[in-house]
Amino acid sequence: MSEHFVELRKKLVEDLKRRGILKTPEVIRAMLRVPREEFVPQHLRDMAYVDTPLPIGYGQTISAPHMCAMMNETLELSVGNKVLEVGAGSGYHAALVAEVVAPSDEPPKRWGHVYTVEIVPELVRFARQNLKKTGYSNRVTVIEGDGSKGYPPKAPYDRILVTAAAPTIPQPLIDQLAVGGLMVIPVGTLGFFQVLKLVEKVGEKEVKSKSLCEVAFVPLVGEWGWRV
Ligand code: SAH
Repeated sequence: MSEHFVELRKKLVEDLKRRGILKTPEVIRAMLRVPREEFVPQHLRDMAYVDTPLPIGYGQTISAPHMCAMMNETLELSVGNKVLEVGAGSGYHAALVAEVVAPSDEPPKRWGHVYTVEIVPELVRFARQNLKKTGYSNRVTVIEGDGSKGYPPKAPYDRILVTAAAPTIPQPLIDQLAVGGLMVIPVGTLGFFQVLKLVEKVGEKEVKSKSLCEVAFVPLVGEWGWRV
């Protein structure tokens, strides 16, 4: 059974490489290691390696593999980075990031860490469970709360990853990004039409941002998100 998934995972990674989405060895290695079938609801396991978002309950979705791959390539992650994710969902994307910033085969003293915030309590439990059974709970901390305000206790972050669509870039996230740090965030309207933005903090009070592509994410709610 698990070998079957390993084969499907390899095929998906080959496909993402062919499409030019996966490029760097570290991001590729992470995609080959993290078992997406362990992060989707039981009845959807057979769909785990179809390149599509899947429902995880509470109106939320686990992002499509190509979206995770693209965001991780854009973030230029490296070993030792401290990363904030807003929108833990299933925990899958956080595990992929952890596998780059804190690789399983590096000594823990070199490891970075991923802090991921989730606002739906049931999904906080789902993400924690999934990360525990796959061996990532020592490198990923799931925090229950409103991530549109960031997570000040561990700021500043080298990288910030937002996996829900915001009306504008929340100021607390800019404040909590380290100088020289990068953030990816979907910004746009409600109803699944947004632009993925790459934000670079070039100085204490200065950011540069550029638009990467059109995307479709679930809404970021909370203080700096949509009031839905
Ligand atoms: N990264 C996830 C996909 C998340 S979908 C994965 O790999 O599975 C987006 C998630 O953002 C949802 O779980 C939603 O509940 C959460 N979310 C929306 N607004 C939020 C907020 N203000 N703070 C934290 N999480 C939020």
